[in-house]
Amino acid sequence: MRVLFATSECASLYKRGGLGDVSHSLPITLQKFGVHIVVTLPFYNEITGVKNPVNIGPLAVDFSGKRELVYLFKTTIPNTKVPVILFRHKRLTEYNETAFLFYSCCIASLYRQAQGIVGLPFDIIHCNDWHTALAPLLLGEENKRYKEKGTITSFHIRSILTIHNILYQGILPVGVVKDTGIPESVFHPTDRYINVLREGLEHVDVVSTVSPSYAKEILSPSYGPHVYAALRKRGDEVIGILNGIDEESWNPKNDRFLPVQYDRRTVEKGKAAIKKKLQDAVGLPVNNNRLLFGFVGRIEPNQKGIDLLMKTVRSLPDKDFQVVILGTGNKKQMKQLKTLDKEYTHIAYIDTFDERLARRIYGGSDCLLVPSKFEPCGLIQMIAMRYGTIPIVRKTGGLADSVVDGKTGFVFSDYDVDDLRRAMWKAIVKREDDPKGWLAMVKHVMTKDFSWKASARQYAALYKKLLS
Ligand code: ADP
Repeated sequence: MRVLFATSECASLYKRGGLGDVSHSLPITLQKFGVHIVVTLPFYNEITGVKNPVNIGPLAVDFSGKRELVYLFKTTIPNTKVPVILFRHKRLTEYNETAFLFYSCCIASLYRQAQGIVGLPFDIIHCNDWHTALAPLLLGEENKRYKEKGTITSFHIRSILTIHNILYQGILPVGVVKDTGIPESVFHPTDRYINVLREGLEHVDVVSTVSPSYAKEILSPSYGPHVYAALRKRGDEVIGILNGIDEESWNPKNDRFLPVQYDRRTVEKGKAAIKKKLQDAVGLPVNNNRLLFGFVGRIEPNQKGIDLLMKTVRSLPDKDFQVVILGTGNKKQMKQLKTLDKEYTHIAYIDTFDERLARRIYGGSDCLLVPSKFEPCGLIQMIAMRYGTIPIVRKTGGLADSVVDGKTGFVFSDYDVDDLRRAMWKAIVKREDDPKGWLAMVKHVMTKDFSWKASARQYAALYKKLLS
């Protein structure tokens, strides 16, 4: 079974968030299960660490009425044997919206010409999010043209589209999308705008998403505005498979970014030592008695619950806790976080993307806050558990599917200050009044299996079903 895995991010080459982690770990695990998988990625300028990429020749891609040459470079996901094909072209040097239309055309061309370029045709194209969602439609249109001309027998397409976050749908003017060569009559424009994700959804064989709860949620207008109707048409066909995490990379026992490595046996001492260094590094008073809440993530006002977090921490007595927040994104909320940092000595905000610091927050915090309005899957709560850090999550999407209230974390339901404060307070009281129970909980969450094995098996079964 040969799968073309098309993505806009792949961690260790280029990562902006969870999609990068998934596009890295899932193909690695699928390859272990015998799936012949090839990952594609634009060769962004920011991808600098590729060792000896092999130029495997130019690819002809039709776009905006012209034939363009795209240079293909073959490499692997670092330290693995999973092949990656990087597309080098001036349109693909930056991560931006219109680049992805061209990228989808590149993916479709590669799929079509795979025999000549990689030696064998692909059986399945696996697209991820709106960035690559048009590729199956492009291939379908090409097939139609072949049939009309009667020149070549049509080629075989089996497609799957995984929705990692329905918030991003790629809403672009008709004139821009027409550059792909797809006739306007195929689309469903609203006010001369085309929703790329929606168009993709209409033309793929299988739609999946990254947790069972989110698979249900996105069928409602509030979670899946603009596209829920297209999804509903499919009924039960939206398949929810919970993401995993790369348990080798996310392991406090050999995490080289941590100042001290630890496992379940040494967790108490290990975390205390990291907490001390972390507090010192981010300018918080060094004190292990105060519960340290961490947050790592994109500062995204529509999703991540930063407004709720800011309001809630202001309403709790400062002598009981500290907060460290790491993230970049929305300018307005970043400014508000900076003000919060200035106003309170027990709150620290760091406005960068920093893998090392993120890992120190997972290692050194007592709890990780994930107060999202919605969360397709969420990886940070799973990473936190691996590091013996108790997650405090809102009951939504993958958070609801991966954290059990009172056992592996604290879960709150309503998106309001009272509910989040209650959950944070429960954690503060439990740690203070029942240190033995707290340590038992910390050790327990570290035993949870969030590896990719179970999820990758489900994807492999999906591929098989698609081919049968
Ligand atoms: P999303 O996919 O919505 O961004 P996830 O929880 O699925 O959220 O994944 C977020 C990933 O991005 C995690 O690996 C997290 O460690 C990483 N991350 C997010 N923001 C930062 C940051 N500022 N610095 C370092 N890593 C970050």
